[in-house]
Amino acid sequence: MSQEQGILFVLSGPSGAGKGTVCKALMGRLPEMRLSISATTRQPREGEQHGVNYFFKTKNQFQTMIESGQLLEWAEVYGNYYGTPRTFVEEKLAEGSDVLLEIDIQGAMQVKETYPDGVFLFLIPPSAMELEARILGRGTETEDSFATRFGAARDELQMMSKYDYVVVNDVVEAACERIESIITAEHCSVARN
Ligand code: 5GP
Repeated sequence: MSQEQGILFVLSGPSGAGKGTVCKALMGRLPEMRLSISATTRQPREGEQHGVNYFFKTKNQFQTMIESGQLLEWAEVYGNYYGTPRTFVEEKLAEGSDVLLEIDIQGAMQVKETYPDGVFLFLIPPSAMELEARILGRGTETEDSFATRFGAARDELQMMSKYDYVVVNDVVEAACERIESIITAEHCSVARN
């Protein structure tokens, strides 16, 4: 069996599902996995660092990245732009490393066009009440932005059928274990080898 190319894993799902938290925990458990750092036009939150959490860009810089084809996908999420730098993903996969993207649903659907062999994971909160608590608990939302995010998250749940796997994020460590099992299964997949 040969596994020359790495596998692209896309962790996506509604706002408030806990993608960021699960992704961070997962990276602590999977030293071989390469995490793609996105470009964004949003302002850094407290403690966020350029080149670690995101590549923070102006709107003009982001526009240039789009026009010169530097982004594998991009989307506008709540008034800010987010995108995945293309070169990192291509290079790491070609080297045989697995790559993880943590992106919104619009972006994931674009990646599916380019990488139909990617593995698309849909992370969901255990309940609507928990979703509400998480969006509010983030502490960065005004009343308006809460209503927007909560409404969008409910609509986004309808997209589940476009994904390969659904992972409930009840407890972060349990969600990570489920994702690790999926990663192992994909590496053992006969269809892939
Ligand atoms: P936040 O501003 O809370 O860090 O992220 C807001 C949303 O943008 C989250 O749903 C996150 O998954 C998504 N996001 C982060 N990076 C990217 C990206 O490169 N592309 C797309 N399409 N969405 C992204």
